[in-house]
Amino acid sequence: MEKRRLIIVGSGPAGYTAAIYAARADLQPLLFTGIQPGGQLTTTTDVENWPGEVEGIMGTQLMENLKAQALRFGTEVVDATVADIDLSVRPFKMKTEQGEYEADAVIVATGASAKWLGVPGEDNLKGKGVSACATCDGFFFRDKKIVMVGGGDSAMEEAIFLTRFAETVTVLVRRDELRASKIMQKRAMDNSKIKFLWNTETKELIGTDKLESVKVLNNKTQEETDVPADGFFVAIGHKPNTDFLNGQIELDENGYIKNIPGTSKTSLEGVFACGDVIDPWYRQAITSAGTGCIAALDAERWLINQE
Ligand code: NDP
Repeated sequence: MEKRRLIIVGSGPAGYTAAIYAARADLQPLLFTGIQPGGQLTTTTDVENWPGEVEGIMGTQLMENLKAQALRFGTEVVDATVADIDLSVRPFKMKTEQGEYEADAVIVATGASAKWLGVPGEDNLKGKGVSACATCDGFFFRDKKIVMVGGGDSAMEEAIFLTRFAETVTVLVRRDELRASKIMQKRAMDNSKIKFLWNTETKELIGTDKLESVKVLNNKTQEETDVPADGFFVAIGHKPNTDFLNGQIELDENGYIKNIPGTSKTSLEGVFACGDVIDPWYRQAITSAGTGCIAALDAERWLINQE
């Protein structure tokens, strides 16, 4: 069993920023990348709002840069996923496919993943017209017909974004009202390219090599119809990646880690959290990086106090 002072779980902007700060504080952190090395930004194209990158930067390049910066100061980056973690005793213990590790302190930066519908055709057609990231893939649907599902702020924001490219955006809403804030609802409803289908559920995505149509059900009339579509975007929220914690630290009702406000401290001493795994609201690369920095500073202070 290998022992470290600090282990960081997750490799998005939060994890790597925590690693840069912790490595520069001489904590020699080890970072597990998890199943999606580089995190959600690796599924996006241009990032135009990362401060300092005047011309914008590709998401993958930004993550490679953050990794290189973390390595430069001595972070050990391991391509592995934490399958099991025991936070009941210190040092904390974790199992990965690369072996077992112990750590005095842990920073959880495992982010969140887009939710999918789980309907027939969805898996097969991912990347062939089906996407959960409008900013990543909207560009491919210039003058095309897009159908999207969701009724929250993300869905409205993405529908409006998609009208830059698409001929039409049809939003499927499973109830007869939106969850989105009034201002976002108004913006979407005022957009002539956006149409809403109310009380409408997605039953199946149809197509073999590429999406052709979406089978929908009106849950009031029980009528099924096929809506022709070149693109289908899922915007039904995100799920924080906290299952692996097995309830050992306090989570909110949606599964996000509860931290002590203004800090990265969790309900368990020595365990810190940062990035999208604590944040259903802002979900930006820069806010994640900011909380990653906070987590490294909190962990460093905590470790010093233990000595
Ligand atoms: P939300 O949880 O707010 O909304 C999810 C939406 O998807 C709801 O309309 C929900 O329907 C619908 N939905 C969920 N599951 C299904 C399903 N299986 N089939 C069909 N529809 C489904 O998630 P968001 O990602 O939109 O937002 C997350 C948070 O981020 C919110 O707090 C939001 O306000 C915030 N945000 C703010 C923005 C802004 O202010 N500009 C932009 C983006 C996000 P139902 O209502 O029936 O449950």
